[in-house]
Amino acid sequence: MISPQDVLALCREKDVKAIDLRFTDLPGLWQHFTIPVSKLDDDVFEDGLGFDGSSIRGWQAINESDMLLVPQSDTAKLDPFPELPTLSMICNVQDPITREDYTRDPRNIARKASNYLKSTGIADRCLIGPEAEFFIFDEVRYDQTANSGHYHLDSIEGVWNRGQDMTFMGKPNLGSQLRLKEGYSPCPPADQLQDLRNEMMQTMIDCGLDVECQHHEVATGGQAEIDLKYGDLVSMADDMCLYKYIVKNVAYKHEKTVTFMPKPIYGDNGSGMHTHISFWNGDHPLFAGNSYASLSEEALYAIGGILKHAPALLAFTNPTTNSYKRLVPGYEAPVNLAYSQRNRSAACRIPMYSPNPKSKRIEFRCPDPSSNPYLAFSALMMAALDGIQNKIHPGDPLDKDIYDLEPEELANVPKTPASLSEALEALSRDHEFLLRGDVFTQDVINTWISYKKENEVDALALRPHPYEFCLYYDV
Ligand code: GLU
Ligand code: MG
Ligand code: MG
Repeated sequence: MISPQDVLALCREKDVKAIDLRFTDLPGLWQHFTIPVSKLDDDVFEDGLGFDGSSIRGWQAINESDMLLVPQSDTAKLDPFPELPTLSMICNVQDPITREDYTRDPRNIARKASNYLKSTGIADRCLIGPEAEFFIFDEVRYDQTANSGHYHLDSIEGVWNRGQDMTFMGKPNLGSQLRLKEGYSPCPPADQLQDLRNEMMQTMIDCGLDVECQHHEVATGGQAEIDLKYGDLVSMADDMCLYKYIVKNVAYKHEKTVTFMPKPIYGDNGSGMHTHISFWNGDHPLFAGNSYASLSEEALYAIGGILKHAPALLAFTNPTTNSYKRLVPGYEAPVNLAYSQRNRSAACRIPMYSPNPKSKRIEFRCPDPSSNPYLAFSALMMAALDGIQNKIHPGDPLDKDIYDLEPEELANVPKTPASLSEALEALSRDHEFLLRGDVFTQDVINTWISYKKENEVDALALRPHPYEFCLYYDV
């Protein structure tokens, strides 16, 4: 644990000049305010820094906009990017009058989810291991108002696919290209993103993140994956915010751009964020046992809860209109709400890499990296917990390749929602499991649904789409 005194000492030792205070808005984007190091004292750790909450997406009305950011010393990190030596801290958000934690602060929701799990006596912690994927592009151009339907993506790997002449990091392109859907995982020079991913990985390690592996992903528009070792729910969500910040800023430094949108390229794989989850009591892994795939009964119930609530859960784990362009057959993304120990086409997979009970976990393959990690991990945990609390059995596993099943066999397997609109409708019907322990309040659920509907679902439906020009321009 880093105390406020440790933070002050670190600032002196490293000659830190600026303190960056970070928090996450409701959709999941990291926000910041910066104070000179001279203004960081015990009072700031105690009383916080005032700011206007009304300009933050999904937050306070203008008439109750004053809020506090209270820095959490145990999240202190030296920031590798700014020219001025900077230390960052993640903050809790509070009401300045009541000093209560703000109910729409995603980190507060994740903290309440962790505490609620403990209070049930079922487990004392939930470990989460996300595998985020993303695309690295050379250039992106789009019209912010999107009055006309045009966008344009370029990537260093675009030559083969789109016949363009490009260079990478100052070198000419010498013709070693990945064929479509064969990005996983030839060595350089076909893999032209190795240096960039290595720099992302090393920056993460320098910032204290525990990186397991980095590799090129299947899609050839420049798709990458960097995996972190699992961690506690709240700190893993904190780490995912830092992860995205590092990935985007390393790319930016090299005049590249990164997107976590799940399906930027038609006809190739999208980006998922498969999320591994396990419950623990002290050193005892609750999900290891003698049932199917060496799971415990609790783990099967957890799967039952995840699959039962999946349509609503996806409103948080797959929260963009673009998310549902990924969840289609043929691209390694799940479309059927089933479970299996070996089948990557099932929404819940039980990885069988190791016989060690401590590695027993459930991999939920639906989530994507456009999600707010605090909300996605909390909602997933609450669905799994509901399964255990109510002994929701998931039925039989589906150990065939789901993509090859006959239509009649497939007819009984429930599907992922087809659109964000469907997921939001499912959430409006099914959210009791999220309200337990006051984790997600009714206000958060209502705000999420109306925010997503007005700003994304309706906003998109009203605009001409680029492909409509192709289909209809010459009607
Ligand atoms: N990119 C795939 C997805 O959208 C996953 C590929 C993999 O298995 O890692 O979920
Ligand atoms: Mg992976
Ligand atoms: Mg992957």
